[in-house]
Amino acid sequence: MNAVSLSKQDLALVDAAKTLIERRKSKRSTVAAALRTHENRIFCGVNIEVEGSSPCSICAEYAAIGTMVSEGYDRIETIAAVGTRRQVLAPCGKCRQLISVFGNPYVIVKISGKLVKVKLSELYPFPIS
Ligand SMILES: [Zn+2]
Repeated sequence: MNAVSLSKQDLALVDAAKTLIERRKSKRSTVAAALRTHENRIFCGVNIEVEGSSPCSICAEYAAIGTMVSEGYDRIETIAAVGTRRQVLAPCGKCRQLISVFGNPYVIVKISGKLVKVKLSELYPFPIS
């Protein structure tokens, strides 16, 4: 796996997700995601958990991407997600498929205790197309 060290911008993205999860308004939200577009715009979102109906829940990445698309952007440069313990989380399989629709961005992940970024294609080499 070709892991790349995080830039200052990448660390700012992780911080944006951490800030959002810390100030979340709903107990239904336990993950926050932040993404940066190729145009250097940052969009964030939180997950929404629906008890008793997991398919009705949405991931934080979905919320962030939905906001990005609402604002007219469609190319993700880098994306990150964090949980309530401020830990970086890798995207689930469903999110990997969604993210693949918006390019082959870097995804910030924790490998061997260190935060790095890897191309989505390394995490999800065969998206449904
Ligand atoms: Zn997900």
